[in-house]
Amino acid sequence: MTNVIQNYAWGSSSSFNQLFGMANQTGEPQAEIWMGAHPNGCSTVHNQNGEPTKLSSLIAQNINSFLSEKVATRFGELPYLFKVLAAEKALSIQVHPNKSQAERGFALEEQLGIPQSAGNRNYKDANHKPELVYALTEYHAMNGFRSVNEIIENFTRLAIPTIEPLLAQLKANPTARGLSMFFSDLLSVDGEQKDQAITALLVRAGNAEEPLYQLIVELETQYPGDIGLFAPLMLNVITLQPGQAMFLDAETPHAYLKGTGLEIMANSDNVLRAGLTPKFMDINELVSCTKFDEKPHDSLLLNPIERDAMLEYPIPVDDFKFAIVSHSKQRLIATESAEILLPLDGAMVLTHTNGESCLIEKGQSVFIPAYAQNYMIDCEGRVARAYS
Ligand SMILES: [Zn+2]
Repeated sequence: MTNVIQNYAWGSSSSFNQLFGMANQTGEPQAEIWMGAHPNGCSTVHNQNGEPTKLSSLIAQNINSFLSEKVATRFGELPYLFKVLAAEKALSIQVHPNKSQAERGFALEEQLGIPQSAGNRNYKDANHKPELVYALTEYHAMNGFRSVNEIIENFTRLAIPTIEPLLAQLKANPTARGLSMFFSDLLSVDGEQKDQAITALLVRAGNAEEPLYQLIVELETQYPGDIGLFAPLMLNVITLQPGQAMFLDAETPHAYLKGTGLEIMANSDNVLRAGLTPKFMDINELVSCTKFDEKPHDSLLLNPIERDAMLEYPIPVDDFKFAIVSHSKQRLIATESAEILLPLDGAMVLTHTNGESCLIEKGQSVFIPAYAQNYMIDCEGRVARAYS
């Protein structure tokens, strides 16, 4: 496949080159490689004769055989989007709605006639957007709430006058409900009060040596004056080592801060923002789609199930599956769905029982239709496998 590269401003100009030897002649930031059939960046498939076809058009030629009847009936489209994502700068803090919230929100905004392109449009589709990220480099992120006690401790230590009344309320009601009020009140602080609070935060952070405060100082250079600078005090901060993975649940605030990784997600664009962004934030809608439960730091990593040098990641939704396959010598894999394979460390030879064979270099990707039923790979290094 040839894939669309999205040149978002937060992307890295060197990471895809370093990992996969992809040239970047213009030196532009390269944020994401999209592998899939999404209308905003559909991959192009080249058959053995080199003829190009859009993946979406190819699938539409015979959806039941390309995706399998089961997936075609259940989803009506390739149900996942697979990406390589390289963040040089932090992405916005965000929450994705669950399925029923997305259905309700989308229907309402359609009914109100809010254009898809409007800045205040929250719901681009009626789908949920569960995500998995697999680190290729050290990968810095925030995911889920710290415990209420930890949040109270962090803010008590800061002793910022503007925030004291909000903190007093949280101390009086240290529950999920209390946290919900604290979170929405804090994000709503505005004008002079917001400037004072952020100035005080930066003075404290500048004098502290802990990594948590250094992170806030670094984020300030990217998003000066943004209320999201308080987020690291409320959310878990995590660094994935290369090869580690985590799942981003619906209704859970998270942010990608820096690093390159693979990301696989359901086919959706529904994002409610909670800071580190110049974009529109609908705080009421955000709060209504957020679970204010603590997420213990030691529960963040997703542990794969290992079978014959194949790491399968347990995913709590049926939109996609994800696995890493290593040390493959004539490994035969049976498949029931459309797959995308991406060799990560070196070239892969892909063979089908009909005799067709091709060489896929690292960083290149290949689409396998469900009707293939099985395929064989030869590859020393890791191959990332997206399927459903
Ligand atoms: Zn997300």
